[in-house]
Amino acid sequence: MFNKILIANRGEIACRVATTARRMGVQTVAVYSDADARAKHVQLCNQAVHVGGSAPKDSYLQWQRIIDAAKQTGAQAIHPGYGFLSENEDFAQACADAGLVFIGPPASAIQAMGLKAESKRLMEAAGVPLVPGYHGTDQTPELLHKEADRIGYPVLIKASAGGGGKGMRAVDKSEDFMAALESCKREAINSFGDDAVLIEKYVQRPRHIEIQVFGDTHGNYVYLFERDCSVQRRHQKVLEEAPAPGMTPELRQRMGEAAVAAARAVNYVGAGTVEFIVEQPGGYDKPEQMQFYFMEMNTRLQVEHPVTEAITGLDLVEWQLRVASGQPLPKQQDELRIHGHAIEARINAENPENNFLPATGTLKVYRTPEWSVDFERADARVDSGVREGDAISPFYDSMIAKLIVWGEDRQQALARLDGALAHMRIVGLTTNVQFLRHVLATPSFSQAHLDTALIQREADVLFKQDKLGMPMTVAAAIGYRIFNERQRLQNNDPFSRRDGWRAYGGFSRQFQLQYLGQPLQADLRYEHDGSYYITIVEPDGTLHPKVLSEGALVLEERDDGRMEVFYQGDRQVLQAWLDGEDLNVFGQRGGSVITMVDTLFHSGETGGDGGRLTAPMPGKVVSFAVKAGDKVTKGQPLAVMEAMKMEHTISAPADGEVVELLFAPGDQVQDGDELLTLKTA
Ligand code: ADP
Ligand code: ADP
Ligand code: MG
Repeated sequence: MFNKILIANRGEIACRVATTARRMGVQTVAVYSDADARAKHVQLCNQAVHVGGSAPKDSYLQWQRIIDAAKQTGAQAIHPGYGFLSENEDFAQACADAGLVFIGPPASAIQAMGLKAESKRLMEAAGVPLVPGYHGTDQTPELLHKEADRIGYPVLIKASAGGGGKGMRAVDKSEDFMAALESCKREAINSFGDDAVLIEKYVQRPRHIEIQVFGDTHGNYVYLFERDCSVQRRHQKVLEEAPAPGMTPELRQRMGEAAVAAARAVNYVGAGTVEFIVEQPGGYDKPEQMQFYFMEMNTRLQVEHPVTEAITGLDLVEWQLRVASGQPLPKQQDELRIHGHAIEARINAENPENNFLPATGTLKVYRTPEWSVDFERADARVDSGVREGDAISPFYDSMIAKLIVWGEDRQQALARLDGALAHMRIVGLTTNVQFLRHVLATPSFSQAHLDTALIQREADVLFKQDKLGMPMTVAAAIGYRIFNERQRLQNNDPFSRRDGWRAYGGFSRQFQLQYLGQPLQADLRYEHDGSYYITIVEPDGTLHPKVLSEGALVLEERDDGRMEVFYQGDRQVLQAWLDGEDLNVFGQRGGSVITMVDTLFHSGETGGDGGRLTAPMPGKVVSFAVKAGDKVTKGQPLAVMEAMKMEHTISAPADGEVVELLFAPGDQVQDGDELLTLKTA
């Protein structure tokens, strides 16, 4: 076994590899870019070497620097992770030439599987079933068109060098072929520097089922069963599970043996995945009629490998290190078993409502379920390369974490995944957590009616959904305010008691809110017995307001910042965080975001007085949330003012630095008085 390896990657996969290496007593060397100087993977490794600027081409793809770093630090082998250099045969060869072990297949196997068209020609010779299509070298447009006509529409044009769901065009009829070919070739040359294409029959309602294979340097091969990755958006995986629902032992064996034949045909060594597209001509409930066709082989560890680990009880990174150091495969085919069911959800910084556009930002709150375990086989496992406070930057991909859940059967695994998603707390950027819960809840998914169009088919129930609902979300927002004010009173003023603030009894106050794009006004009335009553109205009907919801609000404080909210016969245990003006509410039923419009904050915005933060009306300074010298970001609360029996948070209109506080808590201020000075950037 190696003493020391270098991990030529970042994020969750670098952390994943480092964790197994540490358990095995193997030292690790991280590499990092400017943006990643303080990243989790750097901390997890024993040593770290800076390899360049933030953009991948300046750092993680700088393979000469990476090889130099391995030499300097005395690493004996390089683990490439996935993406970046993992499927680059020149890098694999350069490692070998430098006397370093590349933890992956030989360069020749990467090359053989690197181009989709070439690999199909090889697979055809090895007797692996292929999607009917054309994968020849003659790229004359007229010939390609004739081939598409012969295959029959719809067809899929694929860039041979493509990957990551890019460089594909579906064509429905012959008239559209030439235009689609041209645009596919344009994307292929731009993204992959190679415009060769192949043409395949477009399989209707297919499933994506892939087989994990492993080979060693002694000529042994095994398959570690299948993963179903049919739930996709934009041809990219969203949920992955193992085993595939409805799989029969007979089909599993045939697919497993076909995958091993594929690996054997290129003298494969290490971990690889053979992806199949599966036709279900008999519908979802006739697995015996399923037809599988080779799609491509990924010559590396796959993002979704943890579901295989969860059902086999194996550590695939450990297997990679053993095989790379020359040991035989730890198990033979007849020693491998499937135990239970596992599913992985990719938690991404993205906006499902806006065509899954990636989001960037800071993880102001990042909490995983308290019973989850990092990187280890467990009922709930989290693989993640970030910590609370880290940024999801524009330089790298938008995956925040992978949540992997095991159950005795599919139903239990799905229920546990939903429970775990309900306990994810992410504030600071948009994520797909709620969307994933909606996917789990669809009849198609729960009944395993799987195909790659599931998300499009179920679009009606997947988007613009909020299971917490408007009345409960508003109640949560008001509850959050009340608890915060109580706390502030307790902290700031030893003479005020929790019940002291009932002096407001009989008064009411208004909240301006924005929920799913709709402005709302909530009136909170303090009853004399200390209870609350909420009326939610449309804000414009000042004279004849339309009441949207009303009822008594009961709040109970629970441990670690949670509150129990009773409103209109509904009871929810909720947790909330304010991010600027957006309150992020989380509960078992779902999460939602409600904007608490701060009128003072906005009056400052239009006032145009730059760094001056002034009192817009006479009142009292309650507290300052900052002190001189503090760096603040736009939207951060700076001070709380009380005026007209309402408290207002004064937030930073822009990023900047606090220069001076001009009053003390308790001071009376006049309309137009400057409260503090802020130097904006
Ligand atoms: P990539 O290299 O981008 O992963 P793949 O060839 O693996 O490309 O295809 C990605 C996805 O595109 C598949 O998982 C599947 O959803 C869809 N797809 C690929 N080939 C076909 C086909 N012939 N018919 C229908 N869908 C396909
Ligand atoms: P609350 O949000 O009211 O605190 P619980 O903590 O009881 O709710 O958890 C609610 C759900 O979370 C459960 O139904 C289950 O799906 C999931 N869950 C909670 N604890 C565990 C655990 N230890 N293991 C697996 N799932 C759990
Ligand atoms: Mg693929």
